[in-house]
Amino acid sequence: MKKIVCMVLSLCCAAGVVAQSKTGVVAHRGYWKAEGAAQNSIASLKSAIAIGAEGSELDVYISTDDVVFLFHDATLHGKRMETYSSQELQAVKLSNGESIPTFESYLAVAKQQKKTKPIIEIKSHQNKDRENAVVDAVLAMVHKAKMDKRVEYISFSQNACERIIAKAPKAKVAYLSGDLTPQELADKGYTGLDYHIGTMRAHEDWFEQARQLGLEVNVWTVDQEEDMKWLLERHPRYITTDEPEMLQRLIREAR
Ligand code: MG
Repeated sequence: MKKIVCMVLSLCCAAGVVAQSKTGVVAHRGYWKAEGAAQNSIASLKSAIAIGAEGSELDVYISTDDVVFLFHDATLHGKRMETYSSQELQAVKLSNGESIPTFESYLAVAKQQKKTKPIIEIKSHQNKDRENAVVDAVLAMVHKAKMDKRVEYISFSQNACERIIAKAPKAKVAYLSGDLTPQELADKGYTGLDYHIGTMRAHEDWFEQARQLGLEVNVWTVDQEEDMKWLLERHPRYITTDEPEMLQRLIREAR
């Protein structure tokens, strides 16, 4: 009997270690440092897929005529992103020669494989109605592509996050700003937190609090080896980085 108890205990411990050590690599704005890629380009998604990253992060805005585009900065040539038409945005070239991708074209590429999840950041829009419009458009396109279980959502905007939680209760939604505790996030229905490395270093107890509450932890944007090693000892669900291959190497070495 004692032997069986010991075996069960050791199996549980082994399972715990396996579950805890599973940290996935998220390529920040795609693997944009790869040859031929640019931030938030189709090439950066393909490069993230090629190295087997578990996630590829992207940023989205909506145009004046309701087309969702990938782009990081709030402004382009001094004008807010959401004040451009789709025709104007499609004429803009990224540093690798690609046009600014539509979210629809991005999803079509992401759908062709199952390893690398799009981690969709809904950017804060100045007008709340436009922010709601981008959330609704993204949810509809993801649903139409049958990708509901193959994407996750993040935002600095509580409005955007809470709209996703309300409209897609099974979606994974993590908050980026760092000003809500794990308990506050759990109370609001979030499935995770995605906080800056400095925030998590200042609130080390949030790793354990999140774990107890069943929240997944993602940390951005972690490009230093020392930070990666510190995090890997704390077993977040994801680490978001501009250096995905360095992080993959450290994960292999930590095994
Ligand atoms: Mg982002």
